[in-house]
Amino acid sequence: MISLVSHPDYDIPLPDGHRFPATKFSRLVSRLHADGIVGQFVPLQPEPVNPIALSLTQDAGYIDAIANGTLDRESQRVLGLTWSQVLANRSFLAVNGTLLAARHALAHGMACHAAGGTHHAHHAHGAGFCVFNDLAYTAARLRADGDVQRVLILDCDVHQGDGTARILEQHPDIFTCSIHCRANYPARKATSDLDVEIDKGTDDSGYLAILADTLARLDLLWPDPDLVLYDAGVDIHESDRLGLLNVTYDGIRARDLQVLQHFRGRGVPVATVIGGGYGADLDEVAYRHSLVFHAALAVAHDQA
Ligand SMILES: [Zn+2]
Repeated sequence: MISLVSHPDYDIPLPDGHRFPATKFSRLVSRLHADGIVGQFVPLQPEPVNPIALSLTQDAGYIDAIANGTLDRESQRVLGLTWSQVLANRSFLAVNGTLLAARHALAHGMACHAAGGTHHAHHAHGAGFCVFNDLAYTAARLRADGDVQRVLILDCDVHQGDGTARILEQHPDIFTCSIHCRANYPARKATSDLDVEIDKGTDDSGYLAILADTLARLDLLWPDPDLVLYDAGVDIHESDRLGLLNVTYDGIRARDLQVLQHFRGRGVPVATVIGGGYGADLDEVAYRHSLVFHAALAVAHDQA
């Protein structure tokens, strides 16, 4: 069985019309219920991450500022979110949600987190709606605890995983790969171990060809990782409010299946996170995020 990590406190209180789809997390879980697939997962809830543990990859002063609500106005502007106690609480929970999913993936082959992929968070500051970097923390924590030797972070969100790349710059055992649209945020890109830049307007066939090529390159550059953290961001969708690509629902489905089949076919454990997805219709956004959960079940079913 695949674990499904979620928490009722994941939603973020924001004013109507805010660019961040604040309630997409609970809507995603509702969607999975409506689809009748929740029963096929083992439900799990994370505990908040211990701040001292989190200081493995985040600055202690920054962690304090989030915990105590002392983040200054400029830092909140760069983050794109206003501090609240609810935001603080969910940020400590969601980091551990990805770690929990990764641990269950290591034990059972695959696990899915109904949040995560906050890849713009840097060591000492948040950015682009991302408070703490769950991908960097999870990979570094598992490595530090001796649970894995080599981790691959495959980030297919439409935006570059710049925070992840910078935090993990000095980690030779963690490989960061970001497939993103060149014209998207952040304007100043970081250097991942492998950056694949996609042109604005790329469609399904163009995207999937680049993905297949990237997976083949990863087989050569970083074969047989002990774990893959897969950021299945859906802001590659043609209707996404922030993305600039022309990928359809079929394209997202094909992407997720291609990634999961590739690694599970090689016996590599995969933990998925939902990443970015933006739009005025939050149920539509939640539907896009539900696709990777269906893909995970389909791949697990094929392997059984
Ligand atoms: Zn994104």
